[in-house]
Amino acid sequence: MTTSVKSVSVSFADLGLSEPTLAALHKMKFEKPSPIQAAFIPIAMSGSDCIGQAHTGTGKTAAFVLPLLERLDFGRPVVQALVLTPTRELSEQVAEECKRLSYSSQCKTVCIVGGRPVRAQIAELQKGVHVAVGTPGRVIDLIERQNLSLGDLQFVVLDEADRMLDIGFRPDIEKILRRCPEERQTLLLSATLPPPVERLANRYMKTPQKVDMSTNGIATKTVDQYYVTVDYDRKMETLRWLLLDQRPQQVLVFLRTKRGADELYRKFAGKLPNVAILHGDLAQSHRDRVMKQFRSGEVRMLIATDVVGRGIDISGISHIINYDIPEYCDDYVHRVGRTGRLSSDEKGYAFTFVTRDQGEQLTNIEIRINNMLPEYKIPNFESARPQAPRKTIHEVEGFSNR
Ligand code: ADP
Ligand code: MG
Repeated sequence: MTTSVKSVSVSFADLGLSEPTLAALHKMKFEKPSPIQAAFIPIAMSGSDCIGQAHTGTGKTAAFVLPLLERLDFGRPVVQALVLTPTRELSEQVAEECKRLSYSSQCKTVCIVGGRPVRAQIAELQKGVHVAVGTPGRVIDLIERQNLSLGDLQFVVLDEADRMLDIGFRPDIEKILRRCPEERQTLLLSATLPPPVERLANRYMKTPQKVDMSTNGIATKTVDQYYVTVDYDRKMETLRWLLLDQRPQQVLVFLRTKRGADELYRKFAGKLPNVAILHGDLAQSHRDRVMKQFRSGEVRMLIATDVVGRGIDISGISHIINYDIPEYCDDYVHRVGRTGRLSSDEKGYAFTFVTRDQGEQLTNIEIRINNMLPEYKIPNFESARPQAPRKTIHEVEGFSNR
């Protein structure tokens, strides 16, 4: 199964994974964690129960396997982790990924599924394993034959949790969970988790934390999203270049503060026609007028703060520019959701200005939307100076190079 997994700008080493694990990841050519991995792994490693929700193909398997591998005691050849999946194929795939991720450690994994000789599975269990991956039917079978003991279990994982907890599997799952020690960590992974299933899941977990990457709310197909590296003191110039380059039909420029918005507006008002400003301190009559003009297309560029920007639903907006990176990730979702509403064949564009010290905030947004933003370089314009310590002759001599 090959799927392109979007990654974020945190590294696996940042997540606190051990050397053998990092070596295995390197061998598998996993360069960076996917967003669900970046968010889920630290919580799972802390010992908390955790529910992870993310679209298919985003790397949920490694998200739960890696924390297990970090916390198992390989010195004790007893089943310490049980992973349940709804199908044989999935169990085999998960067991395979577990083996690959633990190739340089002592971890032993067995796959317990129906449709395969039970003898071989029993033999492996008798040799001593740390992780058992399987489907509920065969797992129960081996428990009842007393070939599989769950007394030393520390981790239970339900992969494809919504399937595992639906009516077909639930009795089996309950039967298995009743035999698991109370003192254990429970992890649930799923692409979707309807509220009733989630409520049910809570019965099997202890104050679980939830990581939900599935509700980014942005039609990523209809909005092309980029970030632009900027120097703090050259944002205005960058904006001008970006506008010239993009020639937006209509553009909404977001700033964090009213003061910042006022300042930017003052700089543009004289130079560009059809520019307006909108923020919470302005009189309602002004706001109403501006909205009307923006809606009619008379205003082409609107400079706004988040509070006001949220309610705006105008189909002509072709571009969103985050002049200031949003303070809260949810604001990003709301801001960018303002575009991409054009008639179906027209795309929206969103550009987020990021200064060199805002990498972490960019990462948080990427985690939130479960998508990596590519960098956009404005043609013929160096929107940010080359990274220090390279200096231009002007800077060295104390001149401004602008
Ligand atoms: P999910 O369970 O979310 O549907 P999988 O765990 O099956 O996704 O992962 C999908 C594919 O991506 C697998 O082939 C897996 O090996 C690969 N993969 C997972 N994490 C990464 C990563 N960080 N970098 C590259 N590939 C990855
Ligand atoms: Mg999966």
